[in-house]
Amino acid sequence: MSKTAFITGITGQDGAYLAQHLIAQGYAVHGLLRRSASADGMTSRLKWLGIADQVTLHDGNLTDLSSLIRLLTDLQPDEVYNLAAQSFVKSSWQQPLLTGTVTGLGAVNALEAVRIACPKARFYQASSSEMYGLIQQRIQSETTPFYPRSPYAAAKLYAHWMTINYRESFGMHASCGILFNHESPLRGIEFVTRKITDGVARIKLGLQTTLSLGNLDAKRDWGHARDYTRAMWLMLQQDVPDDYVIATGRTASVREFCEMAFACVGLDMNQYVVTDPRHLRPAEVDYLQGDAAKAKRKLGWTFETSLEQMIAEMVEADLARLKMTERL
Ligand code: NDP
Ligand code: GDP
Repeated sequence: MSKTAFITGITGQDGAYLAQHLIAQGYAVHGLLRRSASADGMTSRLKWLGIADQVTLHDGNLTDLSSLIRLLTDLQPDEVYNLAAQSFVKSSWQQPLLTGTVTGLGAVNALEAVRIACPKARFYQASSSEMYGLIQQRIQSETTPFYPRSPYAAAKLYAHWMTINYRESFGMHASCGILFNHESPLRGIEFVTRKITDGVARIKLGLQTTLSLGNLDAKRDWGHARDYTRAMWLMLQQDVPDDYVIATGRTASVREFCEMAFACVGLDMNQYVVTDPRHLRPAEVDYLQGDAAKAKRKLGWTFETSLEQMIAEMVEADLARLKMTERL
């Protein structure tokens, strides 16, 4: 019999790629859909991957424990992936309470629902490299101490430790993936990578003349969401639950990302990029570089898409998308 998976955050970047992977593995995939007045756009990522009609979506909200309990009682999933969050760091200073409620307490709602409704289900928590924040070691692994630098990171750290606590307290098969930044053509437009590739495409097509950014010196270890969601699934296939860093081990600055993206269309970033202090943050995470040796050793996980390949894929996708929407 095929396995059943339940994904919170299925309409987001990772939810869509994870659903695609699970469908390919023969799973029945169910997801949580929060109600929106703009319902027509909510499944756009699932449609982009051509899988919208292969998943079953259920009304609910991560902040509504009763909806989660009812759903999990009915579905009795084998695996639960908690990906839903207020996931944008910059917004977390504007909405610290909402971020704490959804990104932090929301994870505990998911854990409680599993504990009450389907305690044998395997649970994945989407932890984040942002938890390292003001880095305590130059290269970060599972043993590196955390130092969160935003309301988002503090909420993720609470969710991370609560997942570990539920594993240790109740014997739940609960694992945390400490994923470093991962991007794709399905990345939200507010994140710097997608903002850059969309900007590059607009400039190339004559729809925009400049690209306004904040801190160009911040460095991130960027991978592809397709590779990283495969790691989530691998974690839940292990006999013993555990926590894993998922990263490429390579770090690059926002400036270097820009250079590569502009080079994809034969342009020089220096002629188009302007900086604006409005894009700066109250506290910055300057440098992230992950060590995924444990995931490689125990899960057999490695990434397949290089930074250059990912940037080219994102720029191509944005060019194609704009040509269609702008009827060029
Ligand atoms: P996205 O922002 O693309 O997706 C977030 C998802 O959460 C969306 O489906 C959104 O629904 C849903 N959501 C938000 N609030 C609620 C709520 N109250 N109830 C139910 N659903 C809700 O994030 P990603 O796919 O990029 O990331 C997935 C997870 O991984 C997140 O938890 C993120 O914080 C974490 N993470 C991401 C990293 C990255 O680089 N991408 C790195 C490390 C961790 P809707 O479509 O309605 O907005
Ligand atoms: P984060 O690592 O989860 O915060 O992902 P983001 O893509 O939002 O930001 C990555 C880095 O890019 C951060 O250090 C930001 O300060 C930096 N950055 C520079 N300019 C911008 C911008 O215009 N938008 C965003 N989102 N980030 C920017």
